[in-house]
Amino acid sequence: MNERIHMSSPDVGVREEEAVLGAMRSGWIAPLGPDVDAFEQELAERVGVAHAVALSSGTAALHLGLLALGVGRGDIVVTSTMTFAATTNAIVYTGAEPFFVDAEVTTGNMDPALLRKALESLQSAGEKVAAIVPVDLLGKTIDYTSILAIAEEFGVPVLSDAAESLGATHAGRAAGSFGRASAVSFNGNKIMTTSGGGMLLTDDADIAQRTRYLATQARQPVVHYEHTDVGYNYRMSNLLAALGRAQLSRLDEMIGRRREMRQLYKDLFAAVDGVEIFGAAGDESDNVWLTSIVVDEEVSGWASADLAAALAAQNIESRPLWKPMHLQPVFAHHRGVISGASEALFARGLTLPSGSALVPAQRERVTDAIDEFLRAR
Ligand SMILES: *Cc1c(COP(=O)(O)O)cnc(C)c1O
Repeated sequence: MNERIHMSSPDVGVREEEAVLGAMRSGWIAPLGPDVDAFEQELAERVGVAHAVALSSGTAALHLGLLALGVGRGDIVVTSTMTFAATTNAIVYTGAEPFFVDAEVTTGNMDPALLRKALESLQSAGEKVAAIVPVDLLGKTIDYTSILAIAEEFGVPVLSDAAESLGATHAGRAAGSFGRASAVSFNGNKIMTTSGGGMLLTDDADIAQRTRYLATQARQPVVHYEHTDVGYNYRMSNLLAALGRAQLSRLDEMIGRRREMRQLYKDLFAAVDGVEIFGAAGDESDNVWLTSIVVDEEVSGWASADLAAALAAQNIESRPLWKPMHLQPVFAHHRGVISGASEALFARGLTLPSGSALVPAQRERVTDAIDEFLRAR
C-alpha cells in the first residue's frame, strides 16, 4: 500500500537538526539554557508582546495562565465549545467550571452575540465569571474587536487560546497579542513545532513572573528549597527551544506552503456545489493551519464521511472538525449557550491534509484521490 499521508506532520530538516545538535554540544541540556531565553525573546518580538514564558506544552500555558489570573475553585470560565479538549481540560485543572459558548457558523469561532448572552445570564444570576478563554480555530483568530469589547464591558479578563493561530493576524495585530495573556502550542502537528511545547505570551509583567514561578515548582528565592505554593514542572527544555528557534525562522515559509495547499483545495472544489472551504473568506489574515471543507449533503449528493472513506482507502488521513466540548461525555454535564452551529460543523466538516511538509508527489496523490472521488459522483 501507498505510504500514509498525514494531515499535518512535523516539517523539520537540516536547519532543525543542526540547531538541536548545536544545543546538545553546547552542554546546555538540563533543562533550561540560552536557547530558552533566546526563543522567548524571539517569539515575543515576532508577536509584539513584552514577555514570553516557554513551557512544556500549550496546555501548560493555558493552565498557568488561568492560575496567574487567579482562577480557581468556585469560579466560572466561559470558553469556546468548538475546540480541542486541552482548552477545557486546563480550565478543569484549576477547579473552575467551564461554561461553553457556541460558534459562528462561518468560522467556528466564538460567537460574540452568544458570549454576551452567556455573560448577561451568569452575571444576573450572581455567578462569578473569572475569565474568558476563546479559541482561535484552525488558524483563524476570533473577532477580537467584538469579543474584547464585550469582555471589558463585563469586566472579565481574556486568556486567548492561540494554540492554533501563531502567525495569523486580526486588524493588523498578531495572534498571541490579544487579551491579558495568550497560550500558543508547539505540539508536533501545529504550524511550528518543538516536538512538544508551548508558550505563554503577555504584556503583563506580573502574569509572566507568576507563570515562570509556578512552572518551576514554585521555588522561593533562597538556597534551601522553600515552598509556599504548589508548583508545577512545566518549563521547556533547552534542546527543544533550539528546535523551536529553527522552526520560528521558517514560520513564514511554512505558512506559505500551507497556503499553496489551501489554494489547491480551493481550485479543486470551486465548481463543486454544496462544498465550501471552511473559513475561506478573509483567509489572508489566517495562518491557514488546517484546511477543512464543509459539505452540504443535500446539495452535493455525498457526505463528508464518503470522501473520508475514499481517502482512507488510499491511506490518506482526514478527520471531522473538533467534536464540540458540550457533546463530549466527560464535559456534557457542564452548562453553556448552545445554538447548534458547532454541532452542524462537526456533522458536515472534514479536515484534509494541510501540512507544510507535504512534497509535490504527496500533494498530487491527495488532489488525484479527491478528483477521482468527485468524478465518480
Ligand atoms: C493543540 C491545542 C492545545 C494544546 O496544546 P498542547 O501543546 O498540545 O498541549 C490547546 N488548545 C488548542 C485549541 C489546541 O489546538
